[in-house]
Amino acid sequence: MSRARDIEILTEALALECGNTSMLAALADDLDFELAATKLDGRFADKAEDPAIKALFRKFPRGATGHVRGLRRIQELTRSAKALVLFFCPPCGWQLDFGPDPDEGAEAKCRLCRGTFALRLVNGDWTLDRLAP
Ligand SMILES: [Zn+2]
Repeated sequence: MSRARDIEILTEALALECGNTSMLAALADDLDFELAATKLDGRFADKAEDPAIKALFRKFPRGATGHVRGLRRIQELTRSAKALVLFFCPPCGWQLDFGPDPDEGAEAKCRLCRGTFALRLVNGDWTLDRLAP
């Protein structure tokens, strides 16, 4: 997948106000890094004269392939309408589950400390408003 395609998908996600804008941008940056590192490792392998060093730089891209696959899978899951919106409860750290594809203003109550929170979109990212107690 190209950087242009990643930007296009990110733009679509922004248009949908998916609430994960910062996370998707970070994932796109991580993906760019992995792809650039893979190319650089190949160049180092080509220039290395020591067979052990050459073999090492030939081995790195194989590991990066798994990272790229994992990052793309996380991007797909994050963009999915089925992706759950989860937070850690700010006072106690328990899980707050707003379910898949929630609307702004959706509320969740912590099952541990009984705090109540509402979802709010700020610059394309979900944030929490504490309602009670
Ligand atoms: Zn709590």
